[in-house]
Amino acid sequence: MYPWIYTRAKEQPNDLALVTDQARLSWQELYTAAHKLASAWASHLSRGDRIALYGPASQSYIIAIHAAQLLELTIVPLNVRLSQRELDDQLKRAQVKYVISDRTLDTDIKILPFHYTKTAPDIIVRHMPKHYVQSMLFTSGTTGRAKAVEQTMLNHFSSAMNAARHIGSSTEDRFLIVTPLFHMSGLAVVYRAVIYGAPIVLEPHFAPTKTIEWIKNERITHLSLVSVMLDRLLEAGLRRYDLRVVLTGGGPVPLPILTRALDRQIPVMQTYGMTETASQIATLLPEDALRKIGSAGQAIAPTDIRITRHQEIEVKGPTVMKGYFSDEQATVASFTADGYLKTGDLGRLDEEGYLYVLDRRSDLIISGGENVYPAEVESALLSIDGIKEAGVVGRFDSTWGQVPVAFIVSAVEESTVRQAISQLLAKYKCPVTYVYRDALPRNANGKLLRHQLKEFV
Ligand code: AMP
Ligand code: MG
Ligand code: MG
Repeated sequence: MYPWIYTRAKEQPNDLALVTDQARLSWQELYTAAHKLASAWASHLSRGDRIALYGPASQSYIIAIHAAQLLELTIVPLNVRLSQRELDDQLKRAQVKYVISDRTLDTDIKILPFHYTKTAPDIIVRHMPKHYVQSMLFTSGTTGRAKAVEQTMLNHFSSAMNAARHIGSSTEDRFLIVTPLFHMSGLAVVYRAVIYGAPIVLEPHFAPTKTIEWIKNERITHLSLVSVMLDRLLEAGLRRYDLRVVLTGGGPVPLPILTRALDRQIPVMQTYGMTETASQIATLLPEDALRKIGSAGQAIAPTDIRITRHQEIEVKGPTVMKGYFSDEQATVASFTADGYLKTGDLGRLDEEGYLYVLDRRSDLIISGGENVYPAEVESALLSIDGIKEAGVVGRFDSTWGQVPVAFIVSAVEESTVRQAISQLLAKYKCPVTYVYRDALPRNANGKLLRHQLKEFV
């Protein structure tokens, strides 16, 4: 394969490629900028080197992503909310040669600005080996220690092509990115757009009113979100407009939010995937949304999803990562002998092959021998009027082994919550303790960080 930005500039030089608050760029303009940056980098960096990208989503961030591919470099997009200690740790573990950033950072590693101009001979564009490691993303660490996932060019390409077949694609597609580029959901869209030849609109800060304006004014067709963001958009008056695909990942969309969206004909597609599978591997189409409530849909061919005896979801397919960088032990531990990735998630497949993700294995609460899935309890809590956020974790109990504890953001009194939840769930699933909070800990993508809640029980 040639670098995607090169092919795109050849095929659609004058079509719109990137829109931000500051500029509108064509594929030719984007390519020219990326090529210039790659040429400037070429005297310091060569094939196989790793570079960290650290900064807000911007035009120059996108240019850097494409420039890296032109030189066959591995990008390591870093979470801008990391503490100094976490940042040091990730930079060290990823063994990066340079950090690309406009900020001054406390590190021994050399830093180059995103806008790096240096007169240099033009690089020659070459074919890329499809197994080259194009990106390394640290998993969001919802279970604790983050690991660097090695994603190849083929992983990203397969992910884009297979998803397009599963959910459909058109020459009118226009993507809006409101999730971080250092997580899979945002980065995947950058690659999809250049593979399909569809423009992206980049909004570095999710704000419901602004997001709705972009959707209206730029005739956005594709949007990726987590359910808390969808909830806020609905509250701010989101309608269908030209939306064709509203992908929601990271966890199931609670029923009240789902029905509100579907009432407005908003095409919600719940999806299941992870950094290790270069984004979505199952997606529920809107026509199935009410028939298969709680499901993340069918596997995206040719990826195979199977469930083990212990209810763990295992996956094999072309989007599955090469491994965890420089961590042979973790890599070996995460694959089966026959090459399936052990996801660490629990789930089931129904008779039609629809996947239901029950929970993370490590979050499972076993109470008196019964499985209690935190996601199920959270979803029940969220269906109660006045409960805005909910997180459920297990606590040691000398009688039951473990019991569920709920953290809620709620305007409703505890006795009312207890009364309501007892109508919805079996007794062993009902939280024994309620902790009221102003907000729950979430990662930059809005995903609940249950392991942080565990520290408080
Ligand atoms: P990440 O490591 O940030 O890519 O997050 C991937 C994890 O998010 C998966 O392993 C699941 O635990 C969770 N997840 C993703 N999609 C869903 C879904 N549709 N339902 C439940 N959990 C999900
Ligand atoms: Mg994970
Ligand atoms: Mg994610």
